[in-house]
Amino acid sequence: MLNKDHPRYKSLVYREKIVDAHKNGILADSGMIAHGRGETFDYLIGEKTTENSKNTIDAAACYLLCAENAVLSVNGNTTALVAEDVAKLANLLDIPVEINLYYRTDERVANISKVYEDLGVKKILGTNDDEFIDTPDLNGPRSPVSIDGISKADVIFIPLEDGDRAEKLTINNHKTTISVDLNPLSRTAQTSTVTIVDNIVRVMPQLISAVEKYMDMDKEELQMKIDSFNNKDNLKNAIDDIITRFN
Ligand code: ATP
Repeated sequence: MLNKDHPRYKSLVYREKIVDAHKNGILADSGMIAHGRGETFDYLIGEKTTENSKNTIDAAACYLLCAENAVLSVNGNTTALVAEDVAKLANLLDIPVEINLYYRTDERVANISKVYEDLGVKKILGTNDDEFIDTPDLNGPRSPVSIDGISKADVIFIPLEDGDRAEKLTINNHKTTISVDLNPLSRTAQTSTVTIVDNIVRVMPQLISAVEKYMDMDKEELQMKIDSFNNKDNLKNAIDDIITRFN
């Protein structure tokens, strides 16, 4: 039982979720290491959503609302931490959730799929019922994507992504990618179209609110917001925020 008065209570709650997801066959061993890397950077950014990150979340919402075919790509870490919010966002935007795993086993796919089924997600892709096609220029287990999902998507939400895939999707395959990555220097952060440098657990509720806020705005206005966003400036601001904390 976790003590609510513990100064790192929230962090301990998320660690417990990660451990449970590992026990329940949702998270691969390396997912626990990835979480630790995230915690380090969260410490550096002050474990809070910065003004810069709020602005980026707004831009991400506008991209999602302007998309023809958006998809939320999920892995074990995202499912362990924010499955409920992923389900809410998918249903709010009426878009699919696609499972894409580096350590893909039938058992993990089934376990993750069940989480989203139980949360009422209408369209779950990336399961063994799908037809797959390889992502051009990408080798390895994350290359196959659903023909009905990521393959034809124009905008893909890729939280806690690995750098190789983010780079190939964005640069080689000309997809618009929205990543969530606490490390502004990771290859994922550096190559995505929009990089939200913040903890996924803080991002998701704010992204849902931003989508609700902009839902009725007309496309031209949304496009203006997109045009005024610059990911290079965003990443520079994120790094400056860390430097300011050091100072
Ligand atoms: P690169 O993109 O440089 O290839 P990587 O593939 O080595 O990075 P991983 O070890 O796969 O990165 O970890 C995934 C990334 O997710 C890390 O950059 C880490 O900071 C980030 N991360 C982990 N947990 C969270 C979280 N809760 N919220 C946001 N980002 C997180």
